[in-house]
Amino acid sequence: MTEIRLWNTKTKAKEVFSPIDPDDVRMYVCGPTVYDRAHLGNARPVIVFDVLFRLLRHVYGEENVTYVRNITDIDDKINATAQKRKAAGAEGTLEHLIHDRADETIHWYHQDMDALGALRPTIEPRATQHIGTMIAMIQDLVEKGHAYFAEGHVLFAVDSYADYGTLSGRTVEDMIAGARVEVAPFKRNPMDFVLWKPSDADLPGWDSPWGRGRPGWHIECSAMSYELLGPAFDIHGGGIDLQFPHHENEIAQSACAHPSEDFARLWMHNEMLQVEGRKMSKSLGNFFTVRALLDQGVPGEVIRFVFLSTHYRKPMDWTAEKAREAEATLRKWYRIAGAAKPGDMPNALVAALSDDLNTHGALAELHRLAGEGDAAGLRAGLALLGLMDDRIPLWADAGSAALTAAAERLTDAREQAKATMNFAEVDRLKAALAEAGVEVRMSREGVELLPAEGFDPAKLEALPEDPTEWH
Ligand SMILES: [Zn+2]
Repeated sequence: MTEIRLWNTKTKAKEVFSPIDPDDVRMYVCGPTVYDRAHLGNARPVIVFDVLFRLLRHVYGEENVTYVRNITDIDDKINATAQKRKAAGAEGTLEHLIHDRADETIHWYHQDMDALGALRPTIEPRATQHIGTMIAMIQDLVEKGHAYFAEGHVLFAVDSYADYGTLSGRTVEDMIAGARVEVAPFKRNPMDFVLWKPSDADLPGWDSPWGRGRPGWHIECSAMSYELLGPAFDIHGGGIDLQFPHHENEIAQSACAHPSEDFARLWMHNEMLQVEGRKMSKSLGNFFTVRALLDQGVPGEVIRFVFLSTHYRKPMDWTAEKAREAEATLRKWYRIAGAAKPGDMPNALVAALSDDLNTHGALAELHRLAGEGDAAGLRAGLALLGLMDDRIPLWADAGSAALTAAAERLTDAREQAKATMNFAEVDRLKAALAEAGVEVRMSREGVELLPAEGFDPAKLEALPEDPTEWH
């Protein structure tokens, strides 16, 4: 079996990946808070862990990998949008409006990430569907002396967990100095974090031993990963911005609730995204969503290619120049891969990905295969990297674009011929199409062109541009 080696943030070493159960490889990745369209930076962990998911499926078998990515649908920004809509006269209870806003955003998220070629995770749990598990876990932490109740809140006591901070390698003093810690008089230690907080009557809330309220964000992942993957699983992933405090807090909660279990064995973090060499931010005016790029006509495969060209543990710089180059390369590769059936998976490509997801090396291998004209190998490699499914994407399909253009020309010629009763142009065009290997079907409904035996898009492109040139 292929040996996969991955950098473990926790041990700060590249380790040979050895799943707890090779028949049930389990991965958890922190997912989106669904309050608005995903920005380009949000797409990076999605693509990085999609590549890992595909590699694991390739090595261990599709049925033997479970990928959980949560959906945070409890959030002040979701509530704020719902409240604004309610104030503007929207129908329904606030609870419904909150649910609708989350549904709407999840739908956008799926559309946008699908366009980037990311497979849907095996399970996408919504926080609101797992409140019971969170309450049970918080109760357990209180009983074990790791959490305490104060002024309507339940807080995790970081002093009760000696290993707090080991993932990011910080001391509690450093963390207090470096973090924007929410100061609250009822906290025993400024680093203590919220497990449960009270809800006002007009905000979503659930009954609990501590009154009506809602869970803090960190407990979501500890509770849902426990419920869906068990107390010990293989890989936990997310952006490097989540390492502290979110992942430190997840570890503290899970380790204290299940002291004899491993929780996540291997931690992986992707670096952040920049745009044209600068941090993406609203104030710099270089902040944009995945949808905005797609709507500008940048194909999802091109976005994915640009992301894959930088290793996930390095900051990635999105530039328009890289997108142009990626598009040209992909067009070339799709032309070579063409209608070839996927051949054997190229070993060098799997080896590159197995070396801590060396996607840059994997793309270099595709360059090599394209250079050798190995259509079947290229086709298999494109599929593993999520750059090509069953067929060439429409935007890059020279044949389909040429057919569409030729059909338009033939339709125009036919309209003119009906007026002049001179069908010479139509006949000439039909002959040229037949010569290019195109079957022409004409009916009252219109013109239909189908690629037939010996179809050659290059011959179609060689047809005269302007119908008047056919005279
Ligand atoms: Zn999380």
